[in-house]
Amino acid sequence: MKTLVKAQSILIGSELELVKNKCIVINEGKIEVIIDQSEMASYPDASLIDLGSKTLMPGMIECHDHLCIDARIPNHLELLATASAHELTLIAIKGLKDDLMSGVTTARCMGDFDYIDVNLNKKIKDGTIYGPKLLTAGKGMKTAHGAGHIGYPHNGPEEIRKTARENLKKGVDIMKLFATPGVAPVGQDFIPAYLSREEISTVVSEGKRLNVPTAAHCIGGQALTDCVEMGVSVIEHAYAATDADVTLLKEHDTWVDLTSGIFLDEEREAFLSPDSIAKTRYHRENVRKSLAKIVKAGIHFSLGTDANHGLLYKEIGFAIELGADARTALKGVTSNAAIVANRENSIGCITEGFAADLIAVSENPLEHYETLHNVSFVMKDGITYKALDGEAEVVKARL
Ligand SMILES: [Zn+2]
Repeated sequence: MKTLVKAQSILIGSELELVKNKCIVINEGKIEVIIDQSEMASYPDASLIDLGSKTLMPGMIECHDHLCIDARIPNHLELLATASAHELTLIAIKGLKDDLMSGVTTARCMGDFDYIDVNLNKKIKDGTIYGPKLLTAGKGMKTAHGAGHIGYPHNGPEEIRKTARENLKKGVDIMKLFATPGVAPVGQDFIPAYLSREEISTVVSEGKRLNVPTAAHCIGGQALTDCVEMGVSVIEHAYAATDADVTLLKEHDTWVDLTSGIFLDEEREAFLSPDSIAKTRYHRENVRKSLAKIVKAGIHFSLGTDANHGLLYKEIGFAIELGADARTALKGVTSNAAIVANRENSIGCITEGFAADLIAVSENPLEHYETLHNVSFVMKDGITYKALDGEAEVVKARL
């Protein structure tokens, strides 16, 4: 059966053009056609969802998620070393629910333990649990001497090739490398480059042959040059990008996935260890300058929270604070995020033929991004998960 979704304002297409008095016709989980409300009588058998004065926009794409991490739990990074697989699974299920109910209909998972992303994606698809559609990375790949709480150690191109192929066999959507530390220590501005150029290009070429892009956790330094020149598609974080790095990114048209909140969101400090707080504070202002440089240079970017589940709207605010216009910032969680996700022909826009991933808010998010803190309607693939009057029936039956 077809469904009609009607709202006073709708942000359509990749440019989020605001149109009035339109109605979306949904059939089998996809947007069939966008019609004038005056034409609704042509669909007498369709069910109607009337969102009244709300603004409807595409479901958000969270471009940097981890299922085993929840940045809203105290010492969440240290917890990774001690928590059991069962505890991490419960953390993941809670985070997935909060993501979806906040309006995230697709999440790009950037490396997790034991293929939890691949396995839980199956559980979301079969209806056991609920959450966004997941783009999975499986095992993140770092070196034996590399940093990072998530990511498996490797030495040399052949070892890393083995994991890359294991990931591809599992059907991952992204290859994830860890090229640098997350944050340099206090007092240190030198950024180690852990992966060799051979290791990077091995993973990139393994992915490319199966049309799977490679993303690299990379804050800057020599590693950024190596990643860009070896064909990495998306640089995650880029906290310490220099003028020369920005020029290089531009020359290669390499995208950056901004995760500004790690440094700019002071509310996150409540959940960090004293050591992490010290590092965050030490680097905060330099990070702000580097990220502003990227945004102002017009480097293409998407936005992600790095596991701050349900709070993606904040990243839109940080992008605006760094110099982005509101539309470009919002595209960082919709149409441009879809490009980073390698799904620009199926998600991220209210366009005919695209997935019926829709969310509704009280105000125009191009004027007030904060309205996305309170998403009042969530539809994923044509199924309503959050209705104006609360959780939909389909949700109550699931974890
Ligand atoms: Zn991350």
